Amino acid sequence: MPQVLTTNAQIFCPHGGKGVSIPTVPKWTVNGGIVLLEGDTGTLTCPFVLCPCVGYTLKSMGLNATTIDGRKVILATDFNQTFTGLPLLITETHQAFDDTTPAPLPENRPAPPPSPDMADMTKPVVLGIPPALAFNTMTMMPAVITATFTLTTAFPLKWVLTMLNGVAKINVDLTNGLPPGALVVPPGGNWSSPSLVVTVTLNAAFMAALGPGMHHFWMTGVSRRGLSGFAEVILTVT
Ligand SMILES: [Zn+2]
Repeated sequence: MPQVLTTNAQIFCPHGGKGVSIPTVPKWTVNGGIVLLEGDTGTLTCPFVLCPCVGYTLKSMGLNATTIDGRKVILATDFNQTFTGLPLLITETHQAFDDTTPAPLPENRPAPPPSPDMADMTKPVVLGIPPALAFNTMTMMPAVITATFTLTTAFPLKWVLTMLNGVAKINVDLTNGLPPGALVVPPGGNWSSPSLVVTVTLNAAFMAALGPGMHHFWMTGVSRRGLSGFAEVILTVT
């Protein structure tokens, strides 16, 4: 089992905003850091003023059985997101001794090694091509724009596509697209093959409706262990 997540962990949003976790049950500490539980929240001092990340609510992926007062303990590797749908970047530094197993062990027997997907500590690699797109509301050109995201990991789980609308200052989950103006192929966020290509196609009406300004498309890929990688594509509407 990876490290449990404590209030000592370094947590950042992708914009570099620092997170401060707010523990609710101070019953278990590691090196003075309180172990965090499902439902605990945190604040982010996010510098991205167009659509700041604000904070987070921690969720367990259910990959460990440890609970405190019936609430799941969060692991440092569990995938967690900002309120705006972006991945949290988590670094926990305390030492961990792991003798946990799915079933009780006979006395004096060492724990078996974790399965390959649970032992994989390599973050997915996500690329967004092209990184910058442009649309002109006067000419309504180009009529269609396509961005391509390539996601790679040995043990895939899921992906999430989030749009930060820099004019309306809202975040929109685009994992299923918003037909007919924004098509995402394949939609849905399921990720089963080690290499996946997801295309996002925007039509002129959709881009014009976003309004003049910068709009950010964030693709996050998540491995079965919970590790994530991301890419950002920026659409500038003039
Ligand atoms: Zn942020």
